[in-house]
Amino acid sequence: MEMDFRAVVPPSGAPLNLWVWVAQLLITTVFATGFITYYQQAWHMAFETYRDRPVISGSIRCGMLVGAIVVGIALHMVGWLVFANASGLMFHNLGLFALTFPLMVEGESIMEYLVQVVGVVYVWNMHHMGYFNSPQYVVSMVVLAVMVYVMWRYKGAIRYHVERNVAVFAVIGISFWALLPHHSAGLTMNPLIAVQGFTMYLGMVIATAYFLRADHRASVRNQENDQTAHFDSLTNAKSYATYKEDVTAAFAQAEAQGQPLSMAAVDIDYFKQINDHYGHLGGDDVLVGIARQLSAVLARHGGRAALYRTGGEEFNVLLPGMDAQTARPIVEDCWRSVRQSHFASGVNVVQVTISAGVVDMVATDNNIEDLYRRADESLYQSKHHGRDTITVNGQTVTSATEHRPVAIRTILTQRVYDTRTNPLVPTHDEVILATYEEAYDRWDFPEHVHLPLSAQLDYISTVLAECGSRRFIMNLTPHQFLDPGTPDYLARFKASQPQLDVLVVELDDLPEADQIIRVAPRYRHFDLRIELDNLDPIKDAEVIRALLPTVDGLKFDVNRVRRAAESGQKLVGKADFRQAVARYNVSVVVNGIDNSQDAAYAQEVLDARYVQGYYYDRPELPRFA
Ligand code: GH3
Ligand code: MG
Ligand code: MG
Repeated sequence: MEMDFRAVVPPSGAPLNLWVWVAQLLITTVFATGFITYYQQAWHMAFETYRDRPVISGSIRCGMLVGAIVVGIALHMVGWLVFANASGLMFHNLGLFALTFPLMVEGESIMEYLVQVVGVVYVWNMHHMGYFNSPQYVVSMVVLAVMVYVMWRYKGAIRYHVERNVAVFAVIGISFWALLPHHSAGLTMNPLIAVQGFTMYLGMVIATAYFLRADHRASVRNQENDQTAHFDSLTNAKSYATYKEDVTAAFAQAEAQGQPLSMAAVDIDYFKQINDHYGHLGGDDVLVGIARQLSAVLARHGGRAALYRTGGEEFNVLLPGMDAQTARPIVEDCWRSVRQSHFASGVNVVQVTISAGVVDMVATDNNIEDLYRRADESLYQSKHHGRDTITVNGQTVTSATEHRPVAIRTILTQRVYDTRTNPLVPTHDEVILATYEEAYDRWDFPEHVHLPLSAQLDYISTVLAECGSRRFIMNLTPHQFLDPGTPDYLARFKASQPQLDVLVVELDDLPEADQIIRVAPRYRHFDLRIELDNLDPIKDAEVIRALLPTVDGLKFDVNRVRRAAESGQKLVGKADFRQAVARYNVSVVVNGIDNSQDAAYAQEVLDARYVQGYYYDRPELPRFA
C-alpha cells in the first residue's frame, strides 16, 4: 500500500490524519501512565518513606512541583515552536496533562497547589495570547477557576473515583480545547482539531483514572495485610509474629554493636477472675484498655520501646538500646499507670494490676530465648511475691510501702488414676499450681498454668526423692513448648533423674496444629510425651483428629464434655473416636471430676479409663483467714 506522507504532516489548519491521531493517542496514554507511576513513587517517598525527614521530604516535594511545571511548559513549547500545526496536538496534551494531573495529588499544601495552578494558567494564557479580551478566554478562565476550587475542596472524594475523576478532567479538557482562539500557540484551530485534541486528552485522563484506582486499591490491600500480619487484631499491640522477628533482629543488633537490650515480660494479675466476673468479652475490654494504656506510656517515653502481645493476657516490652537501669523507670511507669487507672469492662469499671519481669542482655545469653527465659523467671518471681510487682534481673523492686494484696502461689501435684484397676492406681502425677485469692479467701487452680520450666522440674525432683512416683506431667505454655531449646532441656533433666520413667508435657493452650506437628519429633526423639489439655470436644474436633497421630494423650474436662453432649454433640465416647484413639494408642483422660456424680458420668457415659479431679485426690492446702 502506498502511503501518502503529505497527509501525515498536515498543512497549517488541517486536522491530523486519522492514523497519526491514533498513534498520538496511544503515545499520550502510555506517557500518562508512565508519568503518574514516577509521580506516585516520588509521592510515596515524600509522604511515607521520608515522612519523618523534613529536609528530604521537602526537597522531593519541591522537585515534584518544579519538575511537573518544567516538563509541562517544555512539552507545550515543543508543540508550539517545533510543530507549528496539528502534529503538535500530542505535545500540547502532554504539557496540559503534566500540569493538570498534579492538581489531584493528596497531602500537598495550599501553597504547592497554588503554584501548580499558576503553571496551568501560564500555559493556558500562552494559548490565548492576543485574545485576552475575547469572551471565550473569560469563559475558559472561569470554568478553570471553578474546577480548581472543586478539586481543592473535594479532592478526597474525586481522586480514586473513576467517573468523578474523568468528569472533572473532562470539563478542564473541554474548556481548554473548545475555547481556544483561532490562532493558538502555533495551531490554527478548527472544530475538528479541537475534537481531536480533546479526545486525546480524554484518553489520557481515562487511563489515569483507572490506573489511580488500581494503585489505590493495591495500596489499601497492602496496608490491610500489613496490619493483620504485624498487629494483634484485639489489642492493636504488635503481634507475636512481629515479636519473633523484632526480638531476633534486636538481639543480633545489640550483639553486633555492643549495645544494651532489655526486655520486660508483663502479665495481668488475676485476669481469670475478671473473665469469671465480667465474662470473656468484659475481659477482652480490659485487655484492650491495658494495651492502650501501656502503649501510651511507652510513647510518652519517646516510643523507643515497643509493646507486643505474646499470649492471652501476656505482653512483652522490648527496650532496645537500654540496660535494666534505664528500662526500669519506664516499666515502673507502665506498672504505676495501670494500677492507678480504671478500665471499662462492659458496663463495669474495674481496677487491675500487672506484674513484670525485667532483664537486660548479659554476655552469657546465647540467643533471645535465653533472655526471654530470664524475663519469664523474673515475672514468675513477681507473681510469687504476691503480684502487682516488678522484678528486675531477679531483684524484686517495687516500693514495699504500697499496699499489696496477699497472694500466695504454691506448686503441688494432682494424680491421674487408672480406673481399670481395683483399687484405683495412680498412673501419673501432674504438676499443678494453686493460687490463694485473698479477696475470696480461697485457693484457685488456674486453668492455664504458667510456670517456668525450672520451677516445675525442681518440684518434680523433690517429689521424686520423697514419694515413689515415677511418671510426671508438667504444663507448658505454647511459647515454652515451641522454644527449640525445651526438648533438650527436658531431656537433660530426664537423663539426670534415673527414677523418672515418664515425662509428659501437657499443653493447656494449643499452638497451631502444624506447629505441634513440626516440633513433636524433637520431643519424640527424647521419649517425651505430649498431651493436649482443656480440649473443647466440639470446637477442637478438627484439630484433635489432625493431631491424633502426633500426640500421646488427650484430656477433656468432664463438665465441658457433658455440656457438649447436652447440646447434642459429643466426641468422647463416640465409637469412631474411640477406634481412632485406640489405633494411634492415644490415652484419653477425663479431668475436673469434683464429685461422685462427675465420676459416675465419666465412668458410665464416657467409659473413661483415666480420670483426674478433687474427687480422687484433694490436695491439702493451708487456710489463712
Ligand atoms: P496470674 O495473676 O497468676 O497471672 O493469674 P491469672 O488469672 O491472670 O492467670 P491465668 O494464666 O490463670 O489466667 C489467664 C486467663 O486469661 C485465662 C484465660 O482464660 C484468659 N485469657 C487468655 N486470653 C484471653 C483473651 O484473649 N481474652 C480474655 N477475655 N481472656 C483471655
Ligand atoms: Mg495473669
Ligand atoms: Mg497467664
